[in-house]
Amino acid sequence: MAKFTSSHHFEIIQNCNLFKDINPAVYMDELKQCSVIYVDPEEILIDIDSENSKTYIVLSGSMSIHLEKIDNAPIRQVNVGETVGELSLLGETRATALVVVRQPCQLLVIPRQLLWGLIRKSAQISQNLLFILTDWIISDNERFIDRSREVESLKDLSQLDGLTGLMNRRELDKFLNRVYTRSQMSGNRFVVIMVDVDRFKNYNDTQGHQAGDQALIALGKVLKETIRPMDVAGRYGGEEFTVVLPESTAKEAMVVAERLRINVEKQEIKTKDGSPLPTITVSLGIAESAIDLTLEEIIIKADKNLYKAKKSGRNRCCM
Ligand code: GH3
Ligand code: MG
Ligand code: MG
Repeated sequence: MAKFTSSHHFEIIQNCNLFKDINPAVYMDELKQCSVIYVDPEEILIDIDSENSKTYIVLSGSMSIHLEKIDNAPIRQVNVGETVGELSLLGETRATALVVVRQPCQLLVIPRQLLWGLIRKSAQISQNLLFILTDWIISDNERFIDRSREVESLKDLSQLDGLTGLMNRRELDKFLNRVYTRSQMSGNRFVVIMVDVDRFKNYNDTQGHQAGDQALIALGKVLKETIRPMDVAGRYGGEEFTVVLPESTAKEAMVVAERLRINVEKQEIKTKDGSPLPTITVSLGIAESAIDLTLEEIIIKADKNLYKAKKSGRNRCCM
């Protein structure tokens, strides 16, 4: 093991993030006692869970830092003038990340006790070290926030219908099952409303499929904005939607359904460029739960009432 002697190394140390803006007289005697080591590429300098009692300053070469295992993408590169292993100062903590050499490295090794001595000696060194540690905390937080957002958006995407942003069929089925079970236990009624766009095949045929999509997006918006906070709307499939009203009766649901019908009729529809498209209408079938009906039978009842609404002229609600 060599000691550092070259003027080139001296220059790196003077400009490194730990000793920046500090008179070399403060630390030079101590650093001259430190050894310089050579580490080959692919070698692991600090392994996860290993006990590390040293801080390293990179004099040449580069390293990368990985969480959990070496195959994971690096969270950071460490280049000339940067330090690794500072966390070891904070007591007997084991390494939480893995440091691997990328380009052949020359490293100045500062033992824990020696660095503590320097910290006691110079407030500026403590301050520099605080900046280094703060950087770590900030980048950790940013990584954590990114990861949480990723998980949230994946969760959302897997629960929502891609076109309308309403609950998708799978989530809707889960929700219906939960409401049904609760209602069976409590004896409280709930209501299912089936909503189907009138003559939508014709709308697509005359306006185009893109326009049809815009109409469904507009319908989704009306559904979201019209229902009460405790109600849920989902896409049952194609141009059919379901509204679930927990703790509700058919009579109350009729008011909600009628409001929906009118709001859909009034809702303006536009192309992506903002040109107006014809409005749509919907037919709605309402079914109230009953203690002796299965969930499937309740949905069939709502479907039958929807069929009734279609048969009797469309753009209406039936119960
Ligand atoms: P009815 O009033 O009896 O309900 O007539 P309808 O034409 O609405 O019923 P039909 O079942 O014959 O046609 C439904 C149409 O809905 C056919 C299908 O292409 C269209 N459709 C289903 N999903 C989508 C979609 O995501 N986008 C578009 N643009 N059209 C869709
Ligand atoms: Mg239809
Ligand atoms: Mg249909």
